[in-house]
Amino acid sequence: MLIHNEPMSGYCSFRTGGLAQDFFTPNSIEDLSEFLKNNQKSILMLGLGSNLLVRDRGFDGVVIKLSNFKTLNLKNSIVEAGAGVTLAKIARFCEGEKLSGGEFLSAIPGSVGGALAMNAGAFGSEIWDFVHSVNTINSSGTLFHRMKKDYKIGYRQVIAKNDGEYFIGANLKFEQATKQNNIKELLEKRNQLQPIGLPSCGSVFKNPTNQHAAKLIEKSNLKGFCIGGACVSNKHANFIINQDDASATDIENLIFHIQQTVKSKFGIDLETEVKIV
Ligand SMILES: Cc1cc2nc3c(=O)[nH]c(=O)nc-3n(C[C@H](O)[C@H](O)[C@H](O)COP(=O)(O)OP(=O)(O)OC[C@H]3O[C@@H](n4cnc5c(N)ncnc54)[C@H](O)[C@@H]3O)c2cc1C
Repeated sequence: MLIHNEPMSGYCSFRTGGLAQDFFTPNSIEDLSEFLKNNQKSILMLGLGSNLLVRDRGFDGVVIKLSNFKTLNLKNSIVEAGAGVTLAKIARFCEGEKLSGGEFLSAIPGSVGGALAMNAGAFGSEIWDFVHSVNTINSSGTLFHRMKKDYKIGYRQVIAKNDGEYFIGANLKFEQATKQNNIKELLEKRNQLQPIGLPSCGSVFKNPTNQHAAKLIEKSNLKGFCIGGACVSNKHANFIINQDDASATDIENLIFHIQQTVKSKFGIDLETEVKIV
């Protein structure tokens, strides 16, 4: 389905952002491939929008949401998951299939596609630790099957040897469970540390080498500091909360203010984890 002038605030966990000129939700891989063959506009792939800030002036291209890519199977000990499957669903699926290792995914409010692009991680594990291979599509609509070795994986960073491809699914390998972590306990632990339930993008900044972004922000006395409706969380200083109808500009200005303050106090550059479009 193709629609126009769609407000991105409805699709991003920050609950703000401008209009997407075109917004396409393919029904199937064939549908997506056909669309891409005829598309000339710039593309923004959208998962659950939990790590995305779309500027107030919007996105002058086509946003593609793979929410209908919901395959979830276990085949020859490999979990096959479409890009639109939520990470929470994979964690529960693994639990049901008595596979261990995927419990951490329950703590990340994203989709498979977004998690692959970000190398999302929590509690000492990252999604690419479990990737066997991925299925991708390029901007001309051609499909590929890529192995893990086709990517350079880092902390919240994934560099593809073959540029210009998007993830449409992952094949993930987990161990047969001898012992599984308790998902409920992990979620309780996360809820104690993070302002869950308020509009945010999770951690705004990557942790610099041997440092914690949250500690640097806290030591800069920025907890609770606001610009417009955007505030640094009092619970976790690396979270920015859309507290009072913040614009994307408020959030971006706050990001910039935090970067400048931390730089002048500690001489450290904070790099954003959130993707700004
Ligand atoms: C409360 C909260 C807690 C969080 N905790 C964590 C955490 O513990 N660990 C962590 O790593 N992250 C965390 N995050 C951030 C976020 O959930 C992750 O980065 C997640 O992987 C983003 O997935 P998404 O589907 O929402 O992607 P989106 O936000 O929709 O997109 C993120 C990026 O991925 C790209 N992308 C999306 N889909 C595709 C695709 N199919 N192919 C290619 N590129 C694509 C987008 O273009 C964008 O650049 C948290 C966020 C929130 C709101």
